[in-house]
Amino acid sequence: MKERKTISVKNRLFNKINIKGENDCWPWSGYVKKQDGKGYININKNPVGVQKVVYELEKGIVDKNFPIITSCGNKLCCNAKHLLHDIVSVFWNKVNIKEEDDCWPWKEGASPKGYGQFYDRKNVWRAHRYAYKIVQGDIPDKLFVCHTCDNPPCCNPKHLFLGDNQSNVDDMMNKKRKRVGSDCRNAKLNESQVIKIRKMYKTGNYTLVSLGELFKVDCSTIGNLITKKTWKHI
Ligand SMILES: [Zn+2]
Ligand SMILES: [Zn+2]
Repeated sequence: MKERKTISVKNRLFNKINIKGENDCWPWSGYVKKQDGKGYININKNPVGVQKVVYELEKGIVDKNFPIITSCGNKLCCNAKHLLHDIVSVFWNKVNIKEEDDCWPWKEGASPKGYGQFYDRKNVWRAHRYAYKIVQGDIPDKLFVCHTCDNPPCCNPKHLFLGDNQSNVDDMMNKKRKRVGSDCRNAKLNESQVIKIRKMYKTGNYTLVSLGELFKVDCSTIGNLITKKTWKHI
């Protein structure tokens, strides 16, 4: 009895899936909910996401805490090969995946330095490091995952490379050398200087301009860090 029902759901389902080559997208041609743009099929009079049904038929039970996403980005795709449903799918769901060569910014919380943060239910990761690990494998000890794009929240694996401490610094210095004007000057302060500047300003003996001169940065930089527009985390 139960088996016959499964078969009929399966038939109804695959009737509406445009099956193509093994690695192609298989678009759903049946009912699509306007709210989320995804395909649904009625099972026992309840609408159920077609990707969930396909996934459960082909790959196993779906954990409702994890979304199903498509590796191809096609919301209507029903090729089980393109359906992701695990911690990796949770991760990519938080990344704004754009064109192949664009930056893919992290959509959620960032660290003070602007890196995305991802909790994989064991550890908190810098999001770009997690992206690297998924695509390239484990990160050797003491190595850094660096950005060619100089954009901390970016998780596009194409923009990530491994570097040791020195190459990380060299890479940063190369980028800084290319910068000009106040941008370069602003980059010079470090945390302990910021703390020092705030203390000095509180004494009332220094103006923004004199502090700017002392630390060789623009007075607006001093103003911003004193009002905590910048360096909020300290
Ligand atoms: Zn697809
Ligand atoms: Zn990037």
